[in-house]
Amino acid sequence: MTTPATESHLRRLPKVELHCHVEGAARATTILELAARHGVSLPSVDPDELFAFTDLNQFLSIYDVICASLRTADDFHRIAYEACEDGVAAGVRYREMFFSPGFVIRLGVPVQTVWEGVSAGVRDANHDLDIECRLILDFDKPTGPAHALEMVDVAARLDRDLLLGIGADSVERGIDHRAFAAAFAAAAHEGLHRTIHAGEDGPADNIAAAVHELGCERVDHGFRLLDDPELTAEIVDRRIPLTVCPTSNVVIANVVPDVASHPLAEQRRRGVLATVNSDDPGMMRADLADEYVAVAAAYGYPLEEMEQISLDGIEASWLPDDGKAALRSRFVAEFAALRAEHGLPARR
Ligand SMILES: [Zn+2]
Repeated sequence: MTTPATESHLRRLPKVELHCHVEGAARATTILELAARHGVSLPSVDPDELFAFTDLNQFLSIYDVICASLRTADDFHRIAYEACEDGVAAGVRYREMFFSPGFVIRLGVPVQTVWEGVSAGVRDANHDLDIECRLILDFDKPTGPAHALEMVDVAARLDRDLLLGIGADSVERGIDHRAFAAAFAAAAHEGLHRTIHAGEDGPADNIAAAVHELGCERVDHGFRLLDDPELTAEIVDRRIPLTVCPTSNVVIANVVPDVASHPLAEQRRRGVLATVNSDDPGMMRADLADEYVAVAAAYGYPLEEMEQISLDGIEASWLPDDGKAALRSRFVAEFAALRAEHGLPARR
């Protein structure tokens, strides 16, 4: 027997999030305030309008405004802390969050300032709130392989209690993903975990490059994976996780008209460890709880499957084995308490 997943139950379900950008998690109200303080001109001073976009180009121009509004360590502290607060409100208990210094470095903000603020914001949130957040330094692919190597050098010197690894984001078109092999090899040599945005609006071949030539342990998005059945079988066999962001693929990459048409359900049916994530919850004005609600509605998933998606996030994380076991026990206990509270039968 299966149990329907109600919206209020899904909102409170404990969750893991592995694909969330701190800049994209910024609140519109905070960006309005910071932009005013730093004299950055905005396309709109209405918080409801500021983050309105209908395609990737508009999304990227808002992303530029956000980055231009972040100047001091305090600014980065604030958006990191608030991103964790908003995560907690969506039931996120554990998150590996991206920060992408490449964009603000170009505007003259030193990478040390970014790290000082983001790391302090996350450390304070971990102390004050019911969340454990870790960080992933994302380099910007279009800036090229030399920038990637530089970012790996920076990452290698940061506090490993907070920084788990490196990633790579931004557009795929016109990018030779194999050109980042040296950067990812250097990251592996430094003992850093590795992931990359691939197969989002680019081909499955970028996913193949990620796992065969870049040594990535995870793939962000992986929307096009099923185009390559052999690669799909390998990803299933090796339990290489995808950090899927269905709503983002609808509203940012525009690669699919709605969540129901997204390949997530088919990926999971074939045994892919495909997790559910929000990507840019502030900019999209949809957090991880909204994403769970959208996924359950789109595929008719019962509560059991949504609980399994939550547990899959733990498996896909870069927590050590004992950390995964502890989080799994906690989640299972919380699932039981939530079910009891809703008068539902115990999970089998
Ligand atoms: Zn992303």
